[in-house]
Amino acid sequence: MSEDETLFERVIAGEIPADVVYQDETTFAFRDIRPQARVHVLVVPRKRYRNLGELAAGDPGLLADVALAARKVAESEGILESGYRVVFNTDSDAGQTVFHVHAHVLGGEPLGLFGAPDED
Ligand code: 5GP
Repeated sequence: MSEDETLFERVIAGEIPADVVYQDETTFAFRDIRPQARVHVLVVPRKRYRNLGELAAGDPGLLADVALAARKVAESEGILESGYRVVFNTDSDAGQTVFHVHAHVLGGEPLGLFGAPDED
């Protein structure tokens, strides 16, 4: 992997295997390797931006594509009616580990609260 290449660019290129659930011209969606809900899918724009803010500033149409892809994933996963959560982690306190913006699409069961640190 080149210094500039992210893990998700390698997934999109097919260099790292993934359970792909949806793809189109601008987005790519696959199951998270460490699911945090019964349904946990990552939706990634093929073009790389570091985070949500940079994507929104750089290409708002592409951000809309990601949101629509998230809805399509929810539909194909059967959770459109039961509901789902879309999360974009940004930087360290939020736990972002891959600096290629991605939406976590979570659902398939009632989701817990979020925002507070884990209790010991
Ligand atoms: P972040 O923490 O940056 O918001 O989300 C990165 C996500 O990528 C994590 O939920 C992590 O489990 C997932 N992930 C990391 N490596 C891989 C991988 O090789 N394959 C897949 N499918 N997911 C991965």
